[in-house]
Amino acid sequence: MAQKQIVILGGSYGGVSTAHNVLKHILPALPESSAYQVVLVSPTKQVMCRPACPRAIIGDDQFDQNKLFVSIPKSFEQYGTSFRFVNGTATALDHTQRIVSVDVAGTTEQINYYALVIATGASTYSPLFGFNRDEAFLRASWKSFREALPAAKSIVIAGGGPTGVETAGELGEHLNGRAGWFSSKLEHPKVAITLVSAGADLLPNLRPAIAHKAETYLAKVGVTVVKNARVKNVAPQGSQAQDGTGHGPGIDDVAAKASLSLDNGSSIEADIYIPAFGTRPNTSFVSDPALLTADRRINTNATTLRVDAAGPRVYAVGDVGSYANPAIHQILAAIPVITANIKRDLLADAGKPLSGEDRQFKEDKRETQMVPVGKSKGVGAAMGYKLPSFMVWLIKGRDYWLWTTGNLWSGKQWAKEG
Ligand SMILES: Cc1cc2nc3c(=O)[nH]c(=O)nc-3n(C[C@H](O)[C@H](O)[C@H](O)COP(=O)(O)OP(=O)(O)OC[C@H]3O[C@@H](n4cnc5c(N)ncnc54)[C@H](O)[C@@H]3O)c2cc1C
Repeated sequence: MAQKQIVILGGSYGGVSTAHNVLKHILPALPESSAYQVVLVSPTKQVMCRPACPRAIIGDDQFDQNKLFVSIPKSFEQYGTSFRFVNGTATALDHTQRIVSVDVAGTTEQINYYALVIATGASTYSPLFGFNRDEAFLRASWKSFREALPAAKSIVIAGGGPTGVETAGELGEHLNGRAGWFSSKLEHPKVAITLVSAGADLLPNLRPAIAHKAETYLAKVGVTVVKNARVKNVAPQGSQAQDGTGHGPGIDDVAAKASLSLDNGSSIEADIYIPAFGTRPNTSFVSDPALLTADRRINTNATTLRVDAAGPRVYAVGDVGSYANPAIHQILAAIPVITANIKRDLLADAGKPLSGEDRQFKEDKRETQMVPVGKSKGVGAAMGYKLPSFMVWLIKGRDYWLWTTGNLWSGKQWAKEG
């Protein structure tokens, strides 16, 4: 008899963590565990520490590449035939027939799912900051960017959120160095780096006093901040154009010169322009509007993490879901909840219902965000408490969370049932 397929779409924080948990804690608890198989679908064979991108774009010497990128199939060899990796992209979801279509190197594989976890995350506008497609595309965009970097005299980064601030800080320190202890700003930086922010303050998720501190650190690495301004137009036409996939700029655009007009009436010439604002949920394979929210995330029950409109045993986790703000700490908190509720549903369907209630997710809305500004400074808060620069460096700035991902990708983090 064919195995019942528990299909997980997306191989990053949400998908990889859910897969380990299902394999470790759910399948062994089912009456006939060999009747099930976990199928992980991912366009990339590797999982990566995405927060590291603002520093990783500078060069492969910035991080141990064997830690930055880790093989998904290798991390799951431990589970034998209970696991199958499909190197492909979900292209269509038929939730009435319970079939997901997956493009695997140009051919469509139709997978009948018994349970489905949607963890396809979100893409950035710039290809520099994650797997908008696959590893070859990411590597090619980094290569193009790195080749353009030594000759660049002016760089404009749009977006006053953490990605924009971190990228400006990393490039500032790398290209300009850091002002001395007694100087409030770096005079005559080698490369003019401008960070354009739509808001009146940088870092809208942190209180203004912390955001102001980030500005002072940016000034020390030669970054000029322009606030209350949006990039309105990017010329020449074609620069930063859509790449035909709807995923934003292509590889050539990351290194193209651009003339930018801002909505405050000014204009800036950039040897390199980096759009570092906003993300778009990867849900183009979902056509039924009932499954989507207005901002095209998966319409997820914020308490149970089920996708109620999609029928039984369908869940969403990670940035693609509407249940919480996109952040890794929210995903790590969601994993024990989704695991417990998948377990309840599968046991119930196998005729062994658990007593008690569904496990409930509750979003932690306290001020939590850490933003390194170069290799030694940073700003942030955790659970509502402001963190000193040293702590931000210690926890995140040293290696952009690489110290945490080894256990996550191998599954060791999930050895105990949450
Ligand atoms: C530059 C940057 C820095 C960040 N820094 C931090 C930080 O310091 N702290 C923090 O908490 N958060 C940070 N974030 C946010 C964090 O990276 C995300 O919350 C996290 O990566 C989300 O994980 P995910 O599993 O939901 O999806 P993603 O990481 O978005 O990954 C989704 C995966 O799904 C795959 N996929 C896409 N479409 C399909 C499809 N159709 N079929 C199958 N697979 C598909 C993609 O290839 C990708 O591998 C940062 C984000 C960026 C961009």
